[in-house]
Amino acid sequence: LNKIDTIQRASQAGPTALAPVEDYLAELHARVAAISGGKPADYIPELGKVDPELFGIAIATVDGQIYAVGDAAVPFTIQSVSKPFMYRYALQNYGRLAVLEQVGVEPTGEAFNSIVLDEVANRPFNPMVNAGAIAVAEMMLGETQDERLANMLELFSDLAGRKLDIDQSVFNSELATGHRNRAIAYMMLNTSMISRDPNEVLDLYFRQCSVKVTCRDLAIMAATLANDGKNPLTGKPVFGAQYVRDMLTVMNSCGMYDYAGEWAYEVGMPAKSGVSGSIIAVIAGQIGICVYSPPIDKAR
Ligand code: GLU
Repeated sequence: LNKIDTIQRASQAGPTALAPVEDYLAELHARVAAISGGKPADYIPELGKVDPELFGIAIATVDGQIYAVGDAAVPFTIQSVSKPFMYRYALQNYGRLAVLEQVGVEPTGEAFNSIVLDEVANRPFNPMVNAGAIAVAEMMLGETQDERLANMLELFSDLAGRKLDIDQSVFNSELATGHRNRAIAYMMLNTSMISRDPNEVLDLYFRQCSVKVTCRDLAIMAATLANDGKNPLTGKPVFGAQYVRDMLTVMNSCGMYDYAGEWAYEVGMPAKSGVSGSIIAVIAGQIGICVYSPPIDKAR
């Protein structure tokens, strides 16, 4: 955190002081690249085909400066890093109370795909685990599935400041093998946490996870969250500032799954991980960060 503070102060000092940020990132990249361990997720078979050596870091500031090092322009699927953005969208369009009826804000201490609802309200624990994210996916606005898919893609494109698309082969792979998510969706149909056909809701959820981004895109998307919902590159207000606190709080307490407590203790930044190997972190009012490295450990 102190280092990031230093970077931030350096970048505010004007163009002549920018090199220290790049130098620091290059040094950091070289240092961290030497760490080995973990392995790319392959429970979605298509994800297992990735080059495990890829490694990128990107930082975007709320005033639109971008610093990137390593493989920051290589596309991969967003996976669960999509969840805070979808949650933020649901809050904006339905309000806090309606969203709270479908999904809580309590950490689970369990894995991302645990088949568990809270026993009192029958709700998914929080929007960062799969159950909660599937309930939130149902809240995408649109009269038809096509309209909902178009709105979802528009949301992510606005957040990144460029037109994004779906990785069809990852989507197909997840659709073919996502039986655990199917079990979660049917369980929530049973408790009225979702009301439409589970397969239709999952179709959107799997596509949302299959949106193709780069490390640079995710840094900009995280910076949009850091910037009260306004994309720092395009200036477009994607979200209002109203629910920033709700979203950052849930990222802080639940974004890193069953590692969330340790992450908050060690790192302290609201963050979200995904099985493709990316993590975003947000320093409100300052920067969005993305790190991408496909090998993951058991905490994902
Ligand atoms: N699409 C993945 C799943 O639902 C997302 C999981 C993740 O990135 O943590 O299995």
